[in-house]
Amino acid sequence: MIEIKDLHKSYHMGSNSLHVLKGINFSVSEGEMVSIMGSSGSGKSTLLNILGILDEADEGTYHLDGTEIKNLNERVAAKYRNKFLGFIFQSFNLINYKSALDNVAMPLYYQGEKRNVRTEKAMHYLEKVGLANWAGHLPNELSGGQKQRVAIARALASDPKVLLADEPTGALDTKTSYEVMELIQGINDEGKTILVVTHEDDIAHMTKRIVNLQDGIILDDSVVKQVRAKEAKEKALAHV
Ligand code: ADP
Ligand code: MG
Repeated sequence: MIEIKDLHKSYHMGSNSLHVLKGINFSVSEGEMVSIMGSSGSGKSTLLNILGILDEADEGTYHLDGTEIKNLNERVAAKYRNKFLGFIFQSFNLINYKSALDNVAMPLYYQGEKRNVRTEKAMHYLEKVGLANWAGHLPNELSGGQKQRVAIARALASDPKVLLADEPTGALDTKTSYEVMELIQGINDEGKTILVVTHEDDIAHMTKRIVNLQDGIILDDSVVKQVRAKEAKEKALAHV
């Protein structure tokens, strides 16, 4: 599904440059759930932005679902993003003046779906994340966990090949984090390919494979026994 080879990326600021990704190789197969784990500044978001076609590498190759991602103009990049990818961010990135339903329907608008189809599909995904009763509410009327559920429904709405989540639990307390991970695990159980960026060890262990990124290099890439978020939540609650 994802195949990257010898990826490099530097940022240039005036006469200074910062080599952030220093030769990254990895692939993700259909249906996998992988975390990219590393401390702050290790290059996780830089890598995820390249995978998400929001940014481009300086060197190396990237194939997404068999298509080489290279030198795309913004229109084609946007088309591929819409067709292949769903995004989940730490800060939810919802549109504040639009209802939960309209937020979820946004990607469908860009896919050219008719209004009634958009509404029907958006409602379906809101139901899936357990927020059917909140369809008409604005983001500021929702809790952090609910906002992230809306963002997850939005990411699913266009039925992307891959979900990319950058610190999806970074703004949430432990219980809510585990609830969000439970939802994300359920989506992977149904077969969706998912990449989760995190600096938190417990969250990484809720995926099935951990790629350890340090200073722009993959230090380790291993399959792990997936901790089920539901059980972790019950354990955490039993301790308070
Ligand atoms: P992480 O997500 O692991 O915290 P990032 O990929 O965001 O790491 O950043 C890696 C390094 O690149 C950091 O030192 C950061 O300050 C720097 N960086 C990130 N984005 C930019 C940018 N647009 N311009 C300059 N430096 C950047
Ligand atoms: Mg980051």
